[in-house]
Amino acid sequence: MNTLPAFFAAALAVLFSPALPSRAHGPHEHGAARMNLAVEGDSVVIALESPLANFLSFEHAPETDQQKEDARALIARLRKAEDLFRLSGAAGCRLEKVELEAEALEDFIREPSAQEAVHKAGDHPEHGEEGEEHGDLDAEFSFRCSRPADLHSLEVALFSVWPALRDIDVQMVTPAGQGSAELTPEQTLIRW
Ligand SMILES: [Zn+2]
Repeated sequence: MNTLPAFFAAALAVLFSPALPSRAHGPHEHGAARMNLAVEGDSVVIALESPLANFLSFEHAPETDQQKEDARALIARLRKAEDLFRLSGAAGCRLEKVELEAEALEDFIREPSAQEAVHKAGDHPEHGEEGEEHGDLDAEFSFRCSRPADLHSLEVALFSVWPALRDIDVQMVTPAGQGSAELTPEQTLIRW
């Protein structure tokens, strides 16, 4: 992930530097996504990097009315991430911020010009070998929890919403230490 917000990038640099470089720029593989989960004190930050094809039937800038509608629906859904990332109920976690970044959807992400910071997409190639266009979505979800001592799990509800998504490679730093996990439609829960 080449455009992580500074806070998260700094946290990863400290905690992950021996292992991260080989994973930082994964292949654009439809069906697969990467997630970084950082739990520290009362803060939970979830960073997701995925081909747009896992969420939409296209990866270019929306052209038809239907595609524009689909893009807006996707962005709206991602901004309500409490439904997508369910943290331990007892921990009292609230979604504080959602940052979305997708070159193909840039105009749509900016539309409501809400409190999100929108970053320009990075310099990694967005085009496949055959001239076929590919596009990624980077998203960061920040939660704040009123009872962090009761925070021990995250259920990821992305698969039921977007069936094209088949697996998520998770790297995490939690009070239990560093770890990794593979999420699939059959395995959606992370515990620490
Ligand atoms: Zn693609």
